[in-house]
Amino acid sequence: MSGVIRGRDGIPASRYAERLAGARAATAAAGLDALLVGVGADLRYLAGYAAMPLERLTLLVIPAAASAPITLICPRLEATPARACPAIAVGAAVIGTWEETEDPMALVARLVGPGAEAAAVSDGLRAAFLLGFQRVLPGARFSLVSTVLRDLRMRKDAHEVTLLRDAAHAADRVVAAIAAGRLVGRTENDVAREVRERLVAEGHDQAEFWIVASGPNSASPHHEGSDRVIGAGEPIVIDIGGTLGGYGSDITRTVWVTGGDPSRGPDPEFRRLYTVLQDAQAAATAAVRPGISAEALDAVARDRIAAAGLGPYFIHRTGHGIGLEGHEDPYIVAGNAELLDVGMAFSVEPGIYLEGRFGARIEDIVVCGEAGPIVLNEQPRDLLVVSG
Ligand code: ZN
Ligand code: ZN
Ligand code: ZN
Repeated sequence: MSGVIRGRDGIPASRYAERLAGARAATAAAGLDALLVGVGADLRYLAGYAAMPLERLTLLVIPAAASAPITLICPRLEATPARACPAIAVGAAVIGTWEETEDPMALVARLVGPGAEAAAVSDGLRAAFLLGFQRVLPGARFSLVSTVLRDLRMRKDAHEVTLLRDAAHAADRVVAAIAAGRLVGRTENDVAREVRERLVAEGHDQAEFWIVASGPNSASPHHEGSDRVIGAGEPIVIDIGGTLGGYGSDITRTVWVTGGDPSRGPDPEFRRLYTVLQDAQAAATAAVRPGISAEALDAVARDRIAAAGLGPYFIHRTGHGIGLEGHEDPYIVAGNAELLDVGMAFSVEPGIYLEGRFGARIEDIVVCGEAGPIVLNEQPRDLLVVSG
């Protein structure tokens, strides 16, 4: 048994020290005095600390100057869990507590330096906190932490890819079990409840979303579920995910249920739509490599669908980055010229939707590898025709 300190996600604490060093270097390179990171994905990334998002200030202060300590400010009553996080445990940051009757903003000013000229705050920080920073740092210009951290967070390291793969495989097993089970005669909401239970049973920390869209609802990309009873002879789009060790899963498969009646097999028009979709999804996945732009990857899927005359029915981007957040950079969308690089993880999820009739989507999580795509999901992509 080694003495390596690890976060709850199994990532060695030394890795958090490296992330903090990288964040500090990026802060200095951006000409900022400090990063002010509130509760959320950035804090989990940098410190391994999943704090509760409360009205009391919890804040990681990363000064650009290497001489100043990186400090995790937290309310005294949360010092115990804060101290246990890997960044503190490994000594890469220190704790700064504030008492219930104290103004934590005074602590922020002292750590950043009241003469600070520029600081970045995490994107999801409470407005009340930002107003407090503006009060105690009157000379500072504020920008967003994402502009400083996105390059680091987009490129997943081996530990992160392992967690994403574990999450993907857990979600694969849920899709397989749902597709193999009874569907006809149940409501979408009832199947969605089973999805949530299975996501957790297969190892997720929690279920995050559970789209079960049957019949005409399959043409609505973000239909969550309803009391509609699933019938024989219709498609179901199943788009589900959760977090595992903090990292997201996100898979979509489309099944066709016959109810055991061979005459209720896939509508020929649906089959054609699905073939076009599967070809587009496979082509976009195969095109993943370092140096291709996000918008070029989107175009690979879009051009195939357009060539089949179905362009107007592909109404969303091809994909989104995934990691500690379900949707994060890089977005695979027209207008995003970002070049894909080794370690970037994102969904490839084209869909085709004929409103009022039916739709389909196929989604995998893909990591950009040195030599091309690394597809994390292993669930087959052919149209699954089940008796349901
Ligand atoms: Zn979506
Ligand atoms: Zn999805
Ligand atoms: Zn997705």
